[in-house]
Amino acid sequence: MTLEELNRRIRRCEKCRLWKNAENAVPGEGPSDARVMLVGQNPGKAEDETGKPFVGRAGGFLNKILNKNGMNREDIFITNVVKHRTPQNRKPRSDEIKACMPYLKEQIRYVKPEIIVLMGKVASQTPRNESIKYVETCHPAAAMRFPKMKRKFEKDFGILIRLIDN
Ligand code: URA
Repeated sequence: MTLEELNRRIRRCEKCRLWKNAENAVPGEGPSDARVMLVGQNPGKAEDETGKPFVGRAGGFLNKILNKNGMNREDIFITNVVKHRTPQNRKPRSDEIKACMPYLKEQIRYVKPEIIVLMGKVASQTPRNESIKYVETCHPAAAMRFPKMKRKFEKDFGILIRLIDN
């Protein structure tokens, strides 16, 4: 299956209740041979409106951290565990995470990133693969709000840069 076919399946997905409340599914975006994959929780309002990941406030913050570390967003595959927005931006439920996780697994199988950055508690539930390095950090929305989390987020992106350079 190509990424395009997978995206089509995600856009049509009705495996849990979330599609009913959403304008667009947000499969994720980035090069099919990206060395780095970033994984968030689920799309918010701005992402639901555009069909693109991390284009709202958390996305702006993420872009700033990427730029600060000399990284180009276009080189990275950016996605979420859950591909539809949740009502009132609540945390996705375990059955929703379970229903959606096969899409992320398929994206990982296809892109074969060297490094995956798991942003937040939901992303940290992603099953691990021996051949991939993982950086576990907090969610950018939390890093934006809490100075301690921001320091962790910045430190973890420093770790990412060192992994990329090695
Ligand atoms: N938060 C996420 O976890 N993902 C997005 O795409 C946007 C905000």
